[in-house]
Amino acid sequence: MPFGSLERPSLGLGLLQAQLQRAGMPCDTRYLAFAFADAIGIDEYLWLSRELPYTAFAGDWLFTEALYGPRPQADAAYLDAVLRRDWRLDEAAIARLLALRRSCRPFLEHCLDAVPWERFDVVGFTSTFEQNIASLALARQLKARHPALFVVFGGANWEATMGRELHRRFPCVDAVCSGEADHTFPALLAALDEGRSPATVRGIVHRHRGRSVATPPAPLVRDLDALPIPDYEPWKRDREASSVGAVAATMLLETGRGCWWGAKSHCTFCGLNGGSLAFRAKSPDRALEEIRHLREHYEINFFSAVDNILDMAYFRTLLPRLAAEPPGMTFFYEVKANLSAEQVALLAAAGVTTIQPGVESLSDHVLKLMRKGTTALQNVQLLKWCREHGVRPEWNLLYGFPGETAQDHADTLALMDAIWFLDAPSGYGPVRLDRFAPYHEDPAAYGMTNVRPMAPYPYLYPFGRDSLDQIAYYFDYDHCDADQPLPDPGPLVERVRRWMADEQRGALRLLRDGEDSLVVDDRAPAGPRGLRLHGWQVAAYDACDRVRTRDGLARMPALAHVGADQLSSFLDACVAQRIMVRNRDQHLSLAVASPARAWLAASDHDAIEAAA
Ligand code: SF4
Repeated sequence: MPFGSLERPSLGLGLLQAQLQRAGMPCDTRYLAFAFADAIGIDEYLWLSRELPYTAFAGDWLFTEALYGPRPQADAAYLDAVLRRDWRLDEAAIARLLALRRSCRPFLEHCLDAVPWERFDVVGFTSTFEQNIASLALARQLKARHPALFVVFGGANWEATMGRELHRRFPCVDAVCSGEADHTFPALLAALDEGRSPATVRGIVHRHRGRSVATPPAPLVRDLDALPIPDYEPWKRDREASSVGAVAATMLLETGRGCWWGAKSHCTFCGLNGGSLAFRAKSPDRALEEIRHLREHYEINFFSAVDNILDMAYFRTLLPRLAAEPPGMTFFYEVKANLSAEQVALLAAAGVTTIQPGVESLSDHVLKLMRKGTTALQNVQLLKWCREHGVRPEWNLLYGFPGETAQDHADTLALMDAIWFLDAPSGYGPVRLDRFAPYHEDPAAYGMTNVRPMAPYPYLYPFGRDSLDQIAYYFDYDHCDADQPLPDPGPLVERVRRWMADEQRGALRLLRDGEDSLVVDDRAPAGPRGLRLHGWQVAAYDACDRVRTRDGLARMPALAHVGADQLSSFLDACVAQRIMVRNRDQHLSLAVASPARAWLAASDHDAIEAAA
C-alpha cells in the first residue's frame, strides 16, 4: 500500500510469496502503491514519499479521513502543530497535501474493485514507515464488503507491543504476525486451513473471546540459506502495468539479518533490529546464487542490500567472488565505519559502489556516548579511502546526544573544516529516541525524561496516551539535566548545510614523483599549490594513511633514524598546512592517493585475510 517504495520490491512480500508457493499454498501479491502513484502522478508520489520528512507522517495523515471519517478539528491541529510549526511547511505544500487527500477515497474504491477479493481466503498487509493508515483504511473497507476474509497484518509497524495494541484497536484486523514472519505466516495459514486456532501458532496476535491475545514469540530464523529466493514477479508485473516504469529500479538483496556489532555493543539510539538483533548471514554460495538468479530473472544490475551491517566474513568469502563476476553489477551495503583500506579497495573491486557507513559523528566523545565503537579519525580515514577507491559514502551527522558538550561541537566544526574536500553527509539531524533502542528501554539511565510519542501520533490514532505509548515507534523526550542544557546545534547545522551545498570543494591529492611524493592542494583558500615530500617524510606521510600515534611512527624501522624533534616538527608542519589532521596524539594524512593504492595486488590478499 502507499507509501511503499516504487523503485524497489518489498522483501517481506517477495519472501512470503515464495515461501507459500514452496508450501503449495496459492498466493498472489498486489503492489497497490503503483495504482496510487498513477492516480496522483509520479512526481506527487515521490514528493510525498521522498521529500517530505517521514517522521511528519504526512503520507499516513492523508488516509486518516478515509479511515476515520471527517475530523476537521484534528486535521486543523495536525496541519498547524506538525506541518506548519514543527516542519515549517509553507502554505503551498499544505494546499498540495489537501488536494492529494481527495484522491484517497477513489483510490480505495479502485482497490476494492480491481482485485477479485472473493477468490481469496486470507489477505495480508505488510506495513513499514508510512503504510499503516492506508493499509488500515483498505482493511476496514475490505472487511465490511467481504466479512469472510481473514485479515492479517505484519511488517515493522506491527512488531511486538505495537502490533498487539493496533490489533486491539482495529477489529478489522484478525491476526498479526509479529517479527520475522517467514515461518509464522505459512504456519498461520496452515492452521486456518486445517481449522486450528491461531493460538496454536507462535509469534501471532489473534482474537480470543473478543480480546487480543499474543502467543509466545516465534524463534528467530537461524538458517537464512533455507529461505527461498524472494519472488518479485508480482512487483515486476504491477510496475510494468503502471506509468511508474520510468523510475529507475533497484533490486533488493538480503544477505544478513540482525547486527553483529549491536549484539556486542548496542548503539544507544538504534531500534533498527527490533527484537531480532542476533546476527545471521547467508553462506557465500547461497548469497551468490541469489544474486545471479535475481540478476538474470529481473535484468536489474543495481542491488541494494537490506542488511543492517555487512558480514565481515564476506571480505574473505563473498566479496572476492563478486569481484570475479562478469562486470556490470553494482551494490549498496551498510557497513561499520572502521574498515581497513584493503577492505574498502575490495568493496570497490566487488562492485560495491555505495555504502552507508555508521559514521554518525566527528567527535570521539559523542561516538563514545552512542557506543559506536569507532573514533572520529577512523571515520575520516574511511571517507578518504572511499574517495580514493571511488566508493560513495552516504553518511549521517547526528547531534543532540545526552551528555554532548560545546567542546564536542567545536571539535566537530574544526574537523569538518579540515575534511571539507571529502564527501559531506547525505543527511543530518538530532538523535531520535526509537522503540527497541537502549534509549527507549531505559531512558532515565541516559538522562532522558518525559518520553512521549512523537507529535504526529495523536492525529493519526485517536486513542489515549496509554495506547499511543504502545503504538508509537518514534518518541520525543526532554533532557533530565536542566542545569546542563545541550549546546545550541545552530552553528553545526548551518555549517553542515553549507558543506552539503558546496560543489566547489577542491581536492587534495597525493602523487608519486620518483622517490618523492607530491601533495597537490587545490582547496580554497590556499590552493592551487604543490607540497613536495622527500626521503623519510614520504614514509612518515604514507604511514599516516591510517591513524597513527606519534610514538607508533617513531617506532617504525623506516623512521628509526629520524630524531624525535624532527618527526614532531614534520607532523606539526603537516597539520599546519592542513594536509594532516591530529586528534590528541593521533595523526591521519588527508591527501587522497592518486591513482588509488594497489591494495589488491596478489601479495595483499593475505593482509586482507588478516584484517578481516
Ligand atoms: S546503528 Fe548500526 S551498528 Fe549500531 S546497533 Fe544499529 S545496526 Fe548495529
